[in-house]
Amino acid sequence: MTVKRVLVINSGSSSVKYALLAGEDRLASGIVERIGEPGSPVADHGAALDIVADELAGQGLGIDSPELTAIGHRVVHGGTDFTEPTLITDEVTAMIEELVPLAPLHNPGNLAGIEVTRRLRPDLPQVAVFDTAFHSTISPAAATYAIDREVAERLRIRRYGFHGTSHAYVSREAAAEAGRPDGNVIVLHLGNGASASAVSGGRCLETSMGMTPLEGLVMGTRSGDLDPGVLTYLARTGGMSFEEIDTMLNRGGGMRGLCGDNDMRAVQERLAAGDPDAELAFSVYCHRLRKYVGAYYAVLGTVDVIAFTGGVGENSPLVRQTALDGLEALGIAVDPGRNERGERVISPDGTAVRVVVIPTNEELEIARQTLAVLPRTKHP
Ligand code: AMP
Repeated sequence: MTVKRVLVINSGSSSVKYALLAGEDRLASGIVERIGEPGSPVADHGAALDIVADELAGQGLGIDSPELTAIGHRVVHGGTDFTEPTLITDEVTAMIEELVPLAPLHNPGNLAGIEVTRRLRPDLPQVAVFDTAFHSTISPAAATYAIDREVAERLRIRRYGFHGTSHAYVSREAAAEAGRPDGNVIVLHLGNGASASAVSGGRCLETSMGMTPLEGLVMGTRSGDLDPGVLTYLARTGGMSFEEIDTMLNRGGGMRGLCGDNDMRAVQERLAAGDPDAELAFSVYCHRLRKYVGAYYAVLGTVDVIAFTGGVGENSPLVRQTALDGLEALGIAVDPGRNERGERVISPDGTAVRVVVIPTNEELEIARQTLAVLPRTKHP
């Protein structure tokens, strides 16, 4: 039997990333950026997908190839409607459209990509894989904000969580590798965006992002947790508009807000040179992480594995070491040598909690989930 080929499309607001996978193998991948920006040659998502199609055709892997089995799309917000990967129909795109107010920066770009590839290959099954879906198993106790119920329900205000494909992939890999597929895992996805999750037996119990990707950990440019009173204070006393507050928290917050740099490599260089702003930023970042690890330990009761992933989690021994510092009483420790060498398992032998570094692979997870939908729909 030939290995099935899946084209994975991550069509964001200003970029389209793609990967063509055959089983676990990546045959091609790339990114088209600056869509719709002033002076950019890429006018819209249609033009971006044309470039993707050309790049693939140039490698003899055209979108029109009969060998392509399906197209999988990353969709950021699935609300409460979508709790698993879903075969795309007109009704499904209408429902994703309906969720745009919840993810105004993301869902429109996702939809634009879907629309173009459905036009290019109307014969192929196309599947939406939602960033929120893996977190749909969190309990009402974890999902509900303690605000007026009527307002919350009317406006669909609750905690949804994001980065779900990464948390699903990494938690499964980490548990399987530890020989504990039903075990308890804390995943720390630390990229430019960052989120944590608590997973038990493959089910997500808690996650740090909320109704939007702003809640939780300190990120590259997002603040993470904040006293909601700060928002009204900024508006009332600081004289800021909601647009300005939104921009400050999403683009000018996090590491950038604290020290001017959002890239952890730059922060660490300044830290090594004794820069006090970088020192504060780094300590705020790691303190927040440690706090979440403690909280998720309490949510899970026992922890088998802590998994680091994402650009920072995979590449920064200093973040891993500092975030887990002082947790020996919980059976959590990091072996300095293993950590520096970037080994897969970085905890010392014999500690209760295994600490691992697992490169995330969201494209592979989307391809797998895309294929998983097909037999059900073809042979109901
Ligand atoms: P991601 O969003 O997962 O691609 O992660 C991107 C982020 O990873 C960058 O903004 C950097 O802050 C961080 N990063 C990448 N390489 C390193 C490194 N060697 N050390 C520290 N941080 C890194």
